Amino acid sequence: MRIDLHTHSTASDGTDTPAELVRHAAEAGLDVVALTDHDTTRGYAEAIAALPEGLTLVTGAELSCRVDGISMHLLAYLFDPEEPALLAERELVRDDRVPRAKGMVAKLNALGVPVTWEQVSRIAGGGSVGRPHVASALVELGVVPSVDEAFTEDWLADGGRAHVEKHETDPFEAVRLVKAAGGVTVFAHPAASKRGRTVPESTIAELAAAGLDGIEVDHMDHDPGTRARLRGLAQELGLLTTGSSDYHGSRKTCVLGEYTTDPEVYGEITRRATGAFPVPGTGGV
Ligand SMILES: [Zn+2]
Ligand SMILES: [Zn+2]
Repeated sequence: MRIDLHTHSTASDGTDTPAELVRHAAEAGLDVVALTDHDTTRGYAEAIAALPEGLTLVTGAELSCRVDGISMHLLAYLFDPEEPALLAERELVRDDRVPRAKGMVAKLNALGVPVTWEQVSRIAGGGSVGRPHVASALVELGVVPSVDEAFTEDWLADGGRAHVEKHETDPFEAVRLVKAAGGVTVFAHPAASKRGRTVPESTIAELAAAGLDGIEVDHMDHDPGTRARLRGLAQELGLLTTGSSDYHGSRKTCVLGEYTTDPEVYGEITRRATGAFPVPGTGGV
């Protein structure tokens, strides 16, 4: 059984529509795929409607959080998408996305880069706009050769010349909100240092004590030594460990199913969740 618990569609900053994403997941030989767009559940309906037979969809989201000034991502699975407190917090984060992206455009203009808001929103194509769309605009303009090279201190990395901070949820609050909505939480790529500062192990221990369910270990941004360290930490703290592609379509190089989650861990996630059930594909109705 092949299980990939972290993917993005055009509902946030992926390049596959939700329907394309589930089709590609089936073609990649996956049995289970989680849709985890940034701070939104908007892709669910389309993904469910297009779900191929033999593929199961886990509904989820990747929540933007910040603790002690450090940004981190929290994967949330199988929560009730209508639960009002969690819904309100997601909206607060999302409503900040447009002013933030416009702020980055303004800073880039001040640096002499002729990027426009029209260009960035065209690239976002109606999905919730984010930093990767601004990065793609810089590639389009020939300012940098690749999206990765836009994520440096010269440009859009945290603290970079054109970076603008966003509203992010306190992760302790996020863990509490997701649990109250019947969901399960997994700390995404906790040691992905190339994205900026990472949270210390002591904070992961505090999150575990506050009800965090697991950490994502097998991820493209973790080298083998980091994975071994995280696995040891998870064992010590009684946390589940997952592996996922963090697929973004053609915006990033990883492919669906590049890393996968153990079926026993998946089983435990579904046992803990009470807010929603995995959706089995029926081949479309
Ligand atoms: Zn992430
Ligand atoms: Zn992600």
